[in-house]
Amino acid sequence: MSTRAAQFTARVARREPLTDHLVRLVLDGLDDFRSTGVPDEWVGLVVPGQFQVRYYTVRGFAAGELVLDVVVHDVGLVTEWAMRDCVGDTVTITEPKSSFAPPPDPAWLLLVGDLTAMPAMARILETHPGLPTYVMAEVPDQSQLALAGYLPGHADVTWLAPPAPGQSALAEVVEGIDWPEGDGYFWMAGESAQMRAIRKHLMREVGLPTSHYDVMGYWRATAARQPRAVDPGPIWRAGKAAGKTDEQIWADYDAAQSEAAPTEQAREASDG
Ligand SMILES: Cc1cc2nc3c(=O)[nH]c(=O)nc-3n(C[C@H](O)[C@H](O)[C@H](O)COP(=O)(O)OP(=O)(O)OC[C@H]3O[C@@H](n4cnc5c(N)ncnc54)[C@H](O)[C@@H]3O)c2cc1C
Repeated sequence: MSTRAAQFTARVARREPLTDHLVRLVLDGLDDFRSTGVPDEWVGLVVPGQFQVRYYTVRGFAAGELVLDVVVHDVGLVTEWAMRDCVGDTVTITEPKSSFAPPPDPAWLLLVGDLTAMPAMARILETHPGLPTYVMAEVPDQSQLALAGYLPGHADVTWLAPPAPGQSALAEVVEGIDWPEGDGYFWMAGESAQMRAIRKHLMREVGLPTSHYDVMGYWRATAARQPRAVDPGPIWRAGKAAGKTDEQIWADYDAAQSEAAPTEQAREASDG
């Protein structure tokens, strides 16, 4: 039995750089895609010639077009693809999932995150226009200027610079928060190690009930790209040359992976 989530094939219709580090991609051909309507919803994205999934927030979806705002950092499967002219490329998208779940009638929203969290924070603000909302955004200087109009205007935004490129000090920032009065909802996303520290702080020091916060690790700071048990490139090229469908090539890749590295697969599954 296959446990793979539903998948959609899409085409990159437009590519628009928003800042030095953020590129907007508009994907079309997604008439069968159904949004969850939850503002932090995300999809898995598989780019041409790759099998590994990377996750991106649905910045918007309308009329069969899906908008993803992609951070381009130093190296990365999607980063390197999105830096190039990828218009016309065919990609695979997985069905959307979501996590943002405030209690009924929160008194306020507090949103904290780095550049990868900006799309979700923008969409949360769009869908909650009437609530007092505080945002702490850790983004590079030049992005702060360009992104000033990215977030809907009613939020009280604090812009923070990262300590160094590719680093984050959000755990310290959260430890210094002067919490608003009343029962609100705290949403946060960014580098995974920072998020683990923050969850502990919220539970132990702030005493927030788990229903009142959502803290998501969006990326892992590692020295280099994660090694893969099997290089998907040759399998992809051989499959395409043999006229196989994407589904058949996926099956070849799955078979090669389970032959080569069952323990690696088990580790990835247990990491979620
Ligand atoms: C639910 C969810 C929603 C997300 N939404 C978005 C979104 O809307 N936009 C977005 O850009 N990202 C988003 N992310 C984060 C994105 O999936 C990761 O940053 C991903 O690793 C990028 O893939 P890559 O192929 O470019 O780099 P990878 O091949 O995964 O990583 C290569 C190297 O880059 C480093 N790296 C990865 N991400 C970053 C980063 N952001 N900054 C600095 N170094 C990094 C890694 O440590 C690694 O060393 C989301 C993640 C999740 C889980």
